[in-house]
Amino acid sequence: MVKLALLGATGSVGSSTIEVVKEQAEHFAISLASAHLNWHKLCEIACELSIPQLVFTGIEDTAQQAFIRNQYPSLKIYFGISELLNMLKNKDYDLALNAISGSAGLKSSFAIAQRGKNLALANKESLAMAGHLLMPLIKSQGSKILPVDSEHSAVFQLLEGHPHNEIKKVYLTASGGALRDIPLNELENITLDRALQHPNWSMGTKVTLDSATMFNKALEVMEAHWLFDLDFEQIDCVLHPQSVVHSLVEFIDGAIFAQMSQPDMKLPILYALSYPERLPSKLVQTDLKHLGNLEFSPIPTERYPLFILGLQVAYAGGILPTVLNSANEAALRLFQAGVIRYADIYRICQEAVQNCINEPEPSLEEILTVNEQVFQHILKEYNFGDIQ
Ligand code: NDP
Ligand code: MG
Repeated sequence: MVKLALLGATGSVGSSTIEVVKEQAEHFAISLASAHLNWHKLCEIACELSIPQLVFTGIEDTAQQAFIRNQYPSLKIYFGISELLNMLKNKDYDLALNAISGSAGLKSSFAIAQRGKNLALANKESLAMAGHLLMPLIKSQGSKILPVDSEHSAVFQLLEGHPHNEIKKVYLTASGGALRDIPLNELENITLDRALQHPNWSMGTKVTLDSATMFNKALEVMEAHWLFDLDFEQIDCVLHPQSVVHSLVEFIDGAIFAQMSQPDMKLPILYALSYPERLPSKLVQTDLKHLGNLEFSPIPTERYPLFILGLQVAYAGGILPTVLNSANEAALRLFQAGVIRYADIYRICQEAVQNCINEPEPSLEEILTVNEQVFQHILKEYNFGDIQ
C-alpha cells in the first residue's frame, strides 16, 4: 500500500487524483492532504476516504480554525504553510503529489525533495522557477520526480528504456487554449468568461488562463528542459487542437513516437502513482476508431506573444523565469478582478522582464523573495491591496 501525501487536494488535479485513489484503493491510501481555503470540501473527502491528517494553508483566523475543528472532531486538522512544511518533513508518507497551483507550490516541492521522497509533480512552476536547484537536490537524495503534467508524462513514458543520447527532439503538443479561433483583432478586450472556456480540458483557473495566453506552454518548455535534461533546441511545440496526442519524441534515427489517449488527467496521475508499473484501470478509455482527424501545425506565434516572451526568458534562465511567472500571476489576479484588460496581461509581463537585471544562479531564498516582491509591486501599482 503506497501512502500518498496529496497537496492541492481540492483542485482540478487533486480531484482527479482522488478519483484515481478511489478506483485503486487496494494500492493507494492518502495519509495527508492539503487545501488552501476550501475546508468544507476537503473535510468531507477526508471523512469519506479516512484521511487521517489535513492542513489548510490559507485559513489564519483562529475563531474559524476552532469552528472547523469543532465541525469535524474526528479529523486531525492543522493550519498554515509552516504546518504543511513540517508535516512534509516529519509525517509518514511514501510519495507526495504536489497539485498546488502557481508559485505557492514551490516550498512544498523542496520540503518533499529534502525529505528524499518521490515527488509526483503537477506544479510546473516549481521547475520553471527553481529547476537548477530542485533537480540536483532530487538527484542527491536518490529520489525521483514523476511528471503529472500530461505532456511530460507522455515524454516520460516514451523515453522509458532509451538512453539520453538517442533523443533527437521532443515535441510538446498545445491545444491552443480557449482563444485559439477568436479573430486576432478581438483578443484585446476578451472577457474572463470567454478566456476560461477551454475546448478540451477542464482545469483550474490559472492553468486555463495560461493556456489561453499559451504562457502555460512556455512553462512546460522550462519544465521539460529540467526534467529530461534537454537543450532548448531539442524542445519544440506544435499546435494540436484535439489534445489526443499528449507529446512526441523523435529519436536520432528519425522515428517519431507519440503517446495518446482521451484528454483526461487521471491517466498521467495514475502512471505517476503506479510507476514503474502499469495498473489496470477503466478511468480513461479511448475509442480509437472514432477519434477523427488528428492535426499538427506550427504555433501561430502572433496570437501568443506571452509564449514567445516565455521562451526568451526560458533561454535566459536565472531569476527571469521567477520574475515572469510572478508578473503573470499578478496580472492574472488583476484580470480576474476586472482591473485590467486581457491584452494588459502581456504588457505587464513584458515590463516586469524589461525592468529586471538577471541573476544567473539565484538561491531558493532569492527566488522566494523576488517572487513576492514582483507580485506585490504590480498589485500596488494598481492599488490592489496587499494580498497573496
Ligand atoms: P486548481 O486551481 O484547480 O487547484 C489548486 C489547488 O491548490 C487547490 O487545492 C487549492 O486549494 C490549492 N491552493 C491554491 N492556492 C494555494 C496556496 N497559496 N497555497 C497552498 N495551496 C493552494 O489548480 P489545478 O489543479 O488546475 O492545477 C494545479 C497545478 O497542476 C498547477 O501548477 C497546474 O499548472 C498543474 N497542472 C494542472 C492541470 C489540470 O488539468 N488542471 C494539468 C497539468 C498541470 P483551495 O481549493 O482551498 O483554494
Ligand atoms: Mg500540460
